[in-house]
Amino acid sequence: MQFKDLNLREELLRAVSEMGYDEPSEIQSQAIPVLLDQRDIIGMSQTGSGKTAAFGLPLLNQLEPLDNRKTKALILCPTRELCLQVAGEMRKYSQYLPGIRVVSVYGGQEISKQIQDIKRGSDIVVATPGRLLDHLRRRTLRLDNCSTVVLDEADEMLNMGFLDDIKDVFSQLPEERQTVLFSATMPKEIRELAEEILNDPAHVKVKNKTLTVESIEQIAYQVQPRQKMELMVQLLELYDFKSTLVFCNTKKMVDELTSYLNKEGYKAMALHGDIRQERRTSIMNQFKNKDFNLLVATDVAARGIDVDRLDLVINYDLPQENEYYVHRIGRTGRAGESGVAISFYSPRQEFVLKGLEKLTKQDIARRDLPSQRELSDLTVKLVEKEVQDGLLSAADKSQHVISELLSLGYSREELLFGLVSKLVGENSMKSLEPVKKAGRREGGKRNFVTISIGLGRKHGIKPGNLIAGIADSTGIRGDDIGKIKISERSSTVEIPKGEEKMVIETLSQTKINGKIPYVSIVKAERSDRGERSDRRSRKPRSRKG
Ligand code: ADP
Ligand code: MG
Repeated sequence: MQFKDLNLREELLRAVSEMGYDEPSEIQSQAIPVLLDQRDIIGMSQTGSGKTAAFGLPLLNQLEPLDNRKTKALILCPTRELCLQVAGEMRKYSQYLPGIRVVSVYGGQEISKQIQDIKRGSDIVVATPGRLLDHLRRRTLRLDNCSTVVLDEADEMLNMGFLDDIKDVFSQLPEERQTVLFSATMPKEIRELAEEILNDPAHVKVKNKTLTVESIEQIAYQVQPRQKMELMVQLLELYDFKSTLVFCNTKKMVDELTSYLNKEGYKAMALHGDIRQERRTSIMNQFKNKDFNLLVATDVAARGIDVDRLDLVINYDLPQENEYYVHRIGRTGRAGESGVAISFYSPRQEFVLKGLEKLTKQDIARRDLPSQRELSDLTVKLVEKEVQDGLLSAADKSQHVISELLSLGYSREELLFGLVSKLVGENSMKSLEPVKKAGRREGGKRNFVTISIGLGRKHGIKPGNLIAGIADSTGIRGDDIGKIKISERSSTVEIPKGEEKMVIETLSQTKINGKIPYVSIVKAERSDRGERSDRRSRKPRSRKG
């Protein structure tokens, strides 16, 4: 099929041809005729299959650019990154349609700038749900004339907790409209939402290209979340990988891991959506040119990366969607080269690994954490390297300093022992505790910190959900969790003191009952001598003194 067979306006055909599109992708040839026929669509296809043009071209084809103060089409996207990307593509497609204004509206940018932007005309609004609602509340944007609505990457929006916002937006849209829903996966929540907002939709589905991961060796390490950074360094030292791409689920984690690695002396760089586009391009080019060999990125930011001879991908966080896993690890082992993919996981994430094995139809080898033996061999190697560096640099003053030290009465053996001990101290790594043994000290006093989790009865939360969610993601055992209180919209949970930072960070990117909660500290500390009041009663221990 050709684009010209699709009954699209000349102006659009010209634009896509100039963009170098030779023929429509599969999702485009399926969806465009249906959408031009005014029907609703529920579409499923993987990233990179060309969905933007699949909904964008028919949308533009039927747009009447008469009064551009009225918003005629709305495209909802999960992230600011995607908003900008989709808005950019829409502008390119519409470059020969005069007078069409595309504006993007997303959180994190000054609202006053957006208001001005909207005032200049907003035929098409590309928005994240939260910020869009902000504008609707302020009445800086109205949807009464909006006759086409697209939910792009719907599963991702639900993952980010936008379901209620989306419903709120739809309550403000005209009944008479065309609705398009695209999603890479179709979990139950999406099908339910589709039932609510779509009218007799056509189903289009493009089969996933079978992704080849056979040439990739897949490895997984079970590790306590708080020891992931240390494990990372151990693996980087134990295995001599050249080009390595590390994936984290959040920008914050990307930043933290990158600065940790920098502190440990690695030349690592971060790549995520908060970094300016120019800088991102420059970082990617440097990585491609092998100016540095350790890149830490989020999924979205890593999208455009196409690097030859990437020999290792590390899933520092397991991806939130299994599909991402294949995209992530598929970046290594290209063009017949072999590659390695290493994933970190918590005990309760074992089932995620099983799912990934099913998806890739390959085994993922569970490896033990580096042993004491491996680590001490490593120390020898690192100290040897330092000695070699020392010999190579051969500072002029060395001989003099040695003579002076000898004359102070040190023997050669003592000097050697003292210096090597110092180097060993600087170059040893402690072996990490396997997760299973991370038990609680029986009998001792336990100190708790109370955290608040933005999920409550309203969200169907029961203590078991919280315990499972925390245990799953953080590796803290249910036994080590203190009192739990659940109220209407939020809950509080006592967690072992010292773990709060890790727990808050981890939970802020973990779905509990399908939602990613807002988590914060409410109370600094409470100590407990082994009693527990809420969930299980335990005989109070007798106290001495
Ligand atoms: P998706 O939304 O499905 O992830 P995109 O719409 O972002 O995919 O498209 C992925 C890339 O493919 C973009 O760079 C886009 O410009 C390009 N593309 C889309 N359709 C075609 C086509 N028919 N021919 C060539 N390239 C295309
Ligand atoms: Mg897309």
